Amino acid sequence: MRTVFSEDHRCQDGRSELIEGQFVPCNEMPRRAEIVIDRVRATKLGEILPAQDFGLDPILRVHDKGLVTFLQNAWEEWAATGRTFDALPHVWPVPGLGRRLSDSIDGKLGYYAIDAGTPIMSGTWRAVQASANVALTAQKLVATGERATFALCRPPGHHAGSDFYGGYCFLNNAGIAAQAFLDQGAKRVAILDVDYHHGNGTQQMFYGRADVLTVSLHADPKQEFPYFLGYADEIGAGAGEGYHVNLPLPWGTDWASYSEALEVGLKRIRQYGPDALVISLGLDTFEHDPISRFKLKHEDYSRLGDRIAWMELPTLFIMEGGYAVDALGVNTVNVLAGFEQRG
Ligand SMILES: [Zn+2]
Repeated sequence: MRTVFSEDHRCQDGRSELIEGQFVPCNEMPRRAEIVIDRVRATKLGEILPAQDFGLDPILRVHDKGLVTFLQNAWEEWAATGRTFDALPHVWPVPGLGRRLSDSIDGKLGYYAIDAGTPIMSGTWRAVQASANVALTAQKLVATGERATFALCRPPGHHAGSDFYGGYCFLNNAGIAAQAFLDQGAKRVAILDVDYHHGNGTQQMFYGRADVLTVSLHADPKQEFPYFLGYADEIGAGAGEGYHVNLPLPWGTDWASYSEALEVGLKRIRQYGPDALVISLGLDTFEHDPISRFKLKHEDYSRLGDRIAWMELPTLFIMEGGYAVDALGVNTVNVLAGFEQRG
């Protein structure tokens, strides 16, 4: 399997995030991608390709122009106030406060961000655009006949919606890639999100549509980020009704119960009959992940890859979360190698 990768991911290198009442070093760090690409090389998974530049058009197919312009300019506006530390929001437009777009950078940050865990710095836009280009380059390979490719995206994407960012995500790489498949002639695309957290941005983006099926297995939002979306009764709206499947699972979930939910999701994807399958590949379901509470083990990721391969669909793997950094390379490549073994 070929991997697409861009060194520009390093330009996103936040100093701290707000979690559990404290500013701590960012869990979403450059070393995550480095350890995965090292493992890809060490295991000889396949050729590593650079990203091509697709410009803004495929991004703007699923993202609001206002969000994209904000992300392009946010650091400059922040730095113009004389600040040198990373840009984070500190006030949010809950319904009682209204939702007007202020001229102030602080107002804009609160308007577009969902949390204070997703810092913006001078290199953010460069890394974010490179991450989208990694996804689109890998998507093109699958669309033109490769069985599967791995988009080693960083920063991740599945928490970013059409007009908001957060959860370490700025642009929704999986959503951008799914739309690209459709724009190139696919009739239906399925997105299977196996990150520990609900793919709220992906769901929001396609909630009223039937040409993208989203299936997300994740920690129950009653207990876990993003708290406000990811419940089982969210099934889509209008034309999208019945095309969104949420499979929330409790803290402590191990492979035995995880795999049961996975089969439910895979069965729905098979019924749907998509032309392509996009995997939002988060590895924060790992038993030693520092911010998560599932119990999957190294070998379970090989099983996960094998089960995905059973679908016999053109498959695009897109890197999402995973914060047990030392284990991230092994776990990621276990999924990809598990997929490859079923030839
Ligand atoms: Zn996650």
